[in-house]
Amino acid sequence: MKLGFNRYLIVLILGSFSLQSMSQPRFDTLGWRPPVDIPITLTGNFGELRADHFHAGIDIKTQGHEGLKIYAVQDGYISRIKISPVGYGKSIYITHADGYTSVYAHLKELNIQLEKYIRKVQYQRESFDVDVFPEPNELPVKKGEIVALSGNSGSSGGPHLHFEIRETKSSKPMNGLFLGYKIPDHLAPKMSYLYVYPQDNSSWVENSTESQLFSLQKLNNRYKLRHGDTLQANGNIGLGIKADDLLDGATNLCGVYQFKVLVDDSLYFMDQFDGVSFSESRYVNSLMDYEEFVENKRKLYKLYVEPNNKLSIYQQAKNQGTVFVKPGKVSKISVQTYDAYKNKSELVFYLEGNKKKIASETQKNVMVVPWQEPFRFDSSGVVLKLPSKSLYDTLHFEFSIDNSFTKGLLSPVFNIHRTATPIHEEYSLSLPYKEVADTLKDKLLMVFVDGEKLHALGGTAVNGKVEAQLRGFGPFAVSIDTVAPVIKPKNGLAKNKDLTSAKKIQFEITDNLSGIKNIQGTINGKWVLFEWDPKNDLLSYEMDENTPKQGAFEVKVVAVDAKGNKAIYQTTCNRNVL
Ligand SMILES: [Zn+2]
Repeated sequence: MKLGFNRYLIVLILGSFSLQSMSQPRFDTLGWRPPVDIPITLTGNFGELRADHFHAGIDIKTQGHEGLKIYAVQDGYISRIKISPVGYGKSIYITHADGYTSVYAHLKELNIQLEKYIRKVQYQRESFDVDVFPEPNELPVKKGEIVALSGNSGSSGGPHLHFEIRETKSSKPMNGLFLGYKIPDHLAPKMSYLYVYPQDNSSWVENSTESQLFSLQKLNNRYKLRHGDTLQANGNIGLGIKADDLLDGATNLCGVYQFKVLVDDSLYFMDQFDGVSFSESRYVNSLMDYEEFVENKRKLYKLYVEPNNKLSIYQQAKNQGTVFVKPGKVSKISVQTYDAYKNKSELVFYLEGNKKKIASETQKNVMVVPWQEPFRFDSSGVVLKLPSKSLYDTLHFEFSIDNSFTKGLLSPVFNIHRTATPIHEEYSLSLPYKEVADTLKDKLLMVFVDGEKLHALGGTAVNGKVEAQLRGFGPFAVSIDTVAPVIKPKNGLAKNKDLTSAKKIQFEITDNLSGIKNIQGTINGKWVLFEWDPKNDLLSYEMDENTPKQGAFEVKVVAVDAKGNKAIYQTTCNRNVL
């Protein structure tokens, strides 16, 4: 549990605010058809809380397999094709005349015309990764045209279609549940816990100045606290709710559309997910309780706004959403949770002001870092430079050194604050290391130490230290990668192998630490399109017009890791195709 911070100064500076715009955009007038021709069921909806971002689209189930036909939702033109081994994988963007763009991601393959178009670019650039922006007259499409087949490419965790609607001029993703698609949802969001966050050292709830959770009990769609209606409190209190939306016929938990907090029956706080720009998406780490997410895997919504949270979803936030509880006064609190189809759940409880003073735990030897100011930390050879406004709130910085020298490390483990504290901007960190030979310096890197496991963070050796740009805190150390990737041929591929009846040439490629940075495959010295699927360590070339039909030919694959360690696999195969 975290310590109550001294936030009252910040509250005074910012005061309370309330936005005027209460309109909810609705897109069902666009006349878009669904991107699939099966009934739509979702595994994910818009605005769902994810690590470092809100989910920007809706995830449509594809009956558990790949290869489902994907249709253009409206007339338009292909404005972008992006092929990447990670993220959206194979994706296409269609720009429509109505001011919106539809996005289709994690595809297996594109239609024949688009596949031909993109392969030409890939061969020209000799790269599997490409990101192209065709002109409006190049690749027009009609509503209902099959543009692709669904898949599981990129960072997808199972076959599905990730589908987005974006405002074309701003590229801002909008809530796809307002497209008027028939997605049955008669279930109200489920609320599981109320969280309370005393905002400063003189604030408390139920005799504690720390954040706390209270379990809830459900009666129809009304919730109450499991242990009585009333909480004793004093001072400035932030609220949070663990809530998830449920859809008909789906067991997975989805994101909630809207929250309202009423204090004594008057609207006090409101937020809603109509659209979230990519530039603000990372503020999810402030909206959710990041510590609960990291430590207990619980995604919950804070119903107050931290000082450096710039999300545009807030429609109303009196006193930044925090409730001020005065001795002798009882306030009725109603927390209302809505999904996009207006199904509603409500929690009602009371905060009773109590004048008792509760001593807060005091922290010794911590540095107070105001979120508005830059911070430089320099101790035991460690140098940290944090730009101003990198944090969501005041930080009580902690630092320690663990000298146990885990296997594979060239430095102690430096505990740079705590993994569970979120950070918005990149900062630079330099760590000292044990002397190594000059020739090995370019093999050094920074790692996140996760028990016995090391996760590469990159970085370079400069003036006796390894320096990296990071976006999180935690246990960090210096390690070294001198080991090349391992390339293993699949499907019995070996010298003089007859590939007459084979359709693909595949390899399993792995790396021990720094990670695969570049892979190139050639046939008889000429670049060919090997597709790289890092989540399955799989490199794949589908035989095409570039594969010799008769006789012997040479297959060569070169894989390089992030520290320049290179592996080469080379062999001669045969083919005898008529
Ligand atoms: Zn998705």
